[in-house]
Amino acid sequence: MSCDLTVNERHGLNVMWKTVSNYCNLACDYCYFNGCNGMKAEEVKIQTHLLQKFIKQYMKGVNKVASFAWQGGEPLLAGLDFFYDVVEMQVAFAPPHTSINNVIQTNGTLINEQWARFFKQYNFLVGVSIDGPPEIHDRHRTYSSGAGSYEAVMRGIDWLRKYEVDFNILTVIHEENVQLADQLMQFYEQEHFTYVQWIPAMNFKAQDNSNTVDYFISPASYGNFLCDAFDIWIKEGQPKTSIRVFDNLLTHHMNHPPELCIHQESCPKTLVIESNGDVYPCDFYMHESFKLGNVDEDSLSAILTHPKYAEFLDLKSTLPETCRSCEYLSLCHGGCPRNRRWISGKITNPDYFCTSYRQLYAHSQEKLSSLAQKIRQEWKHDWVESGHSLPARNESCFCGSGLKFKKCCGR
Ligand code: SF4
Ligand code: SF4
Repeated sequence: MSCDLTVNERHGLNVMWKTVSNYCNLACDYCYFNGCNGMKAEEVKIQTHLLQKFIKQYMKGVNKVASFAWQGGEPLLAGLDFFYDVVEMQVAFAPPHTSINNVIQTNGTLINEQWARFFKQYNFLVGVSIDGPPEIHDRHRTYSSGAGSYEAVMRGIDWLRKYEVDFNILTVIHEENVQLADQLMQFYEQEHFTYVQWIPAMNFKAQDNSNTVDYFISPASYGNFLCDAFDIWIKEGQPKTSIRVFDNLLTHHMNHPPELCIHQESCPKTLVIESNGDVYPCDFYMHESFKLGNVDEDSLSAILTHPKYAEFLDLKSTLPETCRSCEYLSLCHGGCPRNRRWISGKITNPDYFCTSYRQLYAHSQEKLSSLAQKIRQEWKHDWVESGHSLPARNESCFCGSGLKFKKCCGR
């Protein structure tokens, strides 16, 4: 999944809307969802009555936190008025004292002063897609004319900065940047991009139901990329940039669970909702055979209890023997089931990027272990400095890991 979402405490449910279905003003050739080639399509944005019906039901089940992610296509094509309606509905239906989180993933080209002001006012977290400096970015992220979008994206980012909007960077790793880890890392530093995540370029569509899993980069090249970038990231022992995949690994070394779905024990409970109301369990499983219902016709509880949901959730824990006997299983949890090869319901191969993960795990283990130990010591120091007493050796650690103090920050 490409967006950060806070898991709602009562539903335990993430919600992602495909705001304008696959409609987009760009024509990136590696897009795993879009097929409109940057051309105008008919009106595809979510209809108000669908939105209202869903938000009303969803809000009944929330406990303190309501989380929404807006994706596309390009979600900004829905227009500002659409999003003003969204926040109005969220406020109208939210139980008292609910914190409402909105995350939006955009190609950045349409962000102007009005959008930046809106994002700031309603505290949206904005994910912007950028693949590196112009000579890399403009190889794939183009308009249908073939013109690159780099300048327009950076203009959008300038507006976000001007209005102090929280944003992060999503970079697709493809044939043109997979060997350029140092250049990419330098680019993030120069541009002061401090929150970054990567996704490898997929050579299949989310709507595709075939068993073929293919990417534009090889596992070996991705493994090398991750290791090279890791060395730059950790160079002086104190990373300055938050790189999601490395943060997740560090989290594991700190005895806390990862937040990246592919390395969690099970797929998080998510509803991905198409603009026509059709619901799917994951952004990578948007096929009829995984359709859970439609928010216009089915209740939220009927959608959540649909047998296909349980079937989907079982996929991740159906591990091949290679994973079951893998020394990194507690770190990797078998990766993503969409990346495994399935034939007649049986897995024939582990995650396409298995060897990339193994390479990174082996390469990073020692350095991450000592960084984790250093951070634990700092936490312990801060805990005591703030007037708390340390737990006894066999009591639960104060950091919330669930481990005994002696096995965690007390080591
Ligand atoms: S199938 Fe599971 S692990 Fe893979 S992207 Fe979807 S939620 Fe994440
Ligand atoms: S590293 Fe490979 S074998 Fe090990 S759990 Fe992950 S996908 Fe499975």
